Amino acid sequence: MASVPVTPLLPPDRRPIVISGPSGVGKGTLFRRLFESHPDSFALSVSHTTRPPRAGENDGHDYYFVSHDAFDKLAAAAGFVEHAVFGGNRYGTSKQTIADQSAKGRVVVLDIEMEGVKQIKKSGIDARFVFIKPPSFEELERRLRGRGTEDEASVARRLDRARDELAYAETPGAHDIIVVNDDLDAAYREFEAFVYKPRP
Ligand code: ADP
Ligand code: 5GP
Repeated sequence: MASVPVTPLLPPDRRPIVISGPSGVGKGTLFRRLFESHPDSFALSVSHTTRPPRAGENDGHDYYFVSHDAFDKLAAAAGFVEHAVFGGNRYGTSKQTIADQSAKGRVVVLDIEMEGVKQIKKSGIDARFVFIKPPSFEELERRLRGRGTEDEASVARRLDRARDELAYAETPGAHDIIVVNDDLDAAYREFEAFVYKPRP
């Protein structure tokens, strides 16, 4: 991987950053680069999910990997800020992860899908909303397949959902910024500049 300049600097706007966009568009690639470039400045909201871990993913770091039963129990106990079904699995942001990550004094970053974005908006949490858009649907499909993490059925479900995500992003005011992730370096610069913009 290319080396990136390292600047440990907290952004002036400390509101949580909610990143969304179709599966495979490059959300994780962009926020991991942000974390790497600015150590100790950001903390990922570690979601709960019922999907199995991918190779290289760690419990408690990438996700809390839980059973459907455990997910249901936490939902019933009002333990989630938001939760949704995606690709046949459940995903949710727990109140605990927001509290834990905020307590580190860093800016919290959420990587969530569209229904979760809508719930966060309704919750009144004062956040910034970033949408990552692919240069084309064909390129999105290429990236999703190229990542090699999904079987055919999962690719189909994710592409299907991508159409809804892209349509929602057209709603005026749905997001504070839409970054087209075509050239990765250019997209990263735009994303980073937004993150470090002073609060309006
Ligand atoms: P997401 O987190 O949105 O599901 P990922 O960050 O896992 O997406 O990226 C999906 C795939 O696309 C990965 O293989 C990644 O390396 C690749 N990728 C990300 N950004 C770009 C880009 N700008 N150009 C080409 N490939 C990219
Ligand atoms: P993946 O299985 O590729 O890790 O994630 C699939 C989708 O679920 C992505 O769009 C991701 O943003 C979303 N997601 C991950 N965690 C959460 C969460 O806690 N809540 C919601 N609503 N979506 C999530």
